[in-house]
Amino acid sequence: MLVLIANLGSTSFKYRLYNMAAGEDRVLAKGGYERVEDHGVVIEDALAELEKSGAVGSRKEIDAVGFKTVLGRDLSGCVVADERALAALEGFAEVAPAHNPPYAAGIRQFARILPDARLIALFETAFYQWVPEAASRYAVPESWHAAGIRRYGFHGASHKFVAERSAELLGREDVAEVVRGLYQNGPQAVDKPLRVISCHLGGSSSVTGIRNGVAIGTSMGFSPQSGLPQNNRVGDLDSGAIPYAAKALGLELPEIERQLTKEGGLLGVSGVSNDLRDVKEAADNGNANAQLAIDMLIHETRRWASSFLFDLGGLDGFVFTAGIGENGAELRAAVCEGLEGFGLKIDPEKNAACKGEETEISTADSTVKVFVIPANEELVLAREVTRKISSLS
Ligand code: ADP
Repeated sequence: MLVLIANLGSTSFKYRLYNMAAGEDRVLAKGGYERVEDHGVVIEDALAELEKSGAVGSRKEIDAVGFKTVLGRDLSGCVVADERALAALEGFAEVAPAHNPPYAAGIRQFARILPDARLIALFETAFYQWVPEAASRYAVPESWHAAGIRRYGFHGASHKFVAERSAELLGREDVAEVVRGLYQNGPQAVDKPLRVISCHLGGSSSVTGIRNGVAIGTSMGFSPQSGLPQNNRVGDLDSGAIPYAAKALGLELPEIERQLTKEGGLLGVSGVSNDLRDVKEAADNGNANAQLAIDMLIHETRRWASSFLFDLGGLDGFVFTAGIGENGAELRAAVCEGLEGFGLKIDPEKNAACKGEETEISTADSTVKVFVIPANEELVLAREVTRKISSLS
């Protein structure tokens, strides 16, 4: 089965073509476009390129197209990208203005030009469908809740992959099997608990608590604006600060929104960059604000990780993934510092030697096993699309 993964950014389009025949998940071709003004043009161009390069004899051979959609109004999960999914995306265009409109347009375009292919959307919120209401509801008036203002959570594909892979690495094939079938079968009982915390630390970051393969809560809420400080987005902020900033700084709402989404996070605090490598270089050269930005990321990762411990009732696995989680050995060490009393001990040599490949970085006597698990969201998507299609047929 040939599955095309279409990644539609506000000004970019990237794709990967997978052969997902039984027992295989091979990338046949990939490509991308930056500074895109018209997604329709580049999608057509990409399909023409796949034919020209011989990756496919004809575009008609593509069996399915997968979309990593962000969030939809009143809809989540891994679903057929039909009119209902389009309405859900368009219903929340305001919440994800950089993502939902290009995805809706892209899905319509593929429906036109590949009428025989199955179109599947995997919402980034999908992994949080079973988070208890007490953990997903904001204490807002009912009318706000009815308008869809609640904690959704994001990075679902990445954290679900961590849930599956960490279960395998911890010798819990039973839980890994639950995770694989989660969007088809829902949560399943297992013989003994498996408790994992997953830290996706990258351009955008979140921490998720996972019990028996199912998320119990996550640091991101209504929008990807919450939780940890992001590359240039603010992360958690007291809602009282917004009306106060409007008055004290004389800012209109659109400008407040722009500053909190473009000039906050690592960039806002460091004043240097939205890229941790640059921030780190500045900190190593004595820039105190750059060091503060890093310290805040460490602090917030620890704060969010610890927020799941009581509900989990213990911890078996602690995982780092995404750009910073995979490559930032010093940051990993700082996040794990002083946790020996909780049975979590990392091996400094293993940690320093890990350059992003899958590695266990805890000591042999650490009761909590600590892993680096590389993120591969396209592959996760290709697998979910394949599972969804086999459940349909
Ligand atoms: P995105 O969320 O945009 O997909 P990534 O998961 O690729 O982002 O993560 C990007 C982040 O990873 C950047 O802040 C980058 O600085 C950081 N990163 C990449 N390589 C390293 C490294 N060697 N050390 C520390 N941070 C790194």
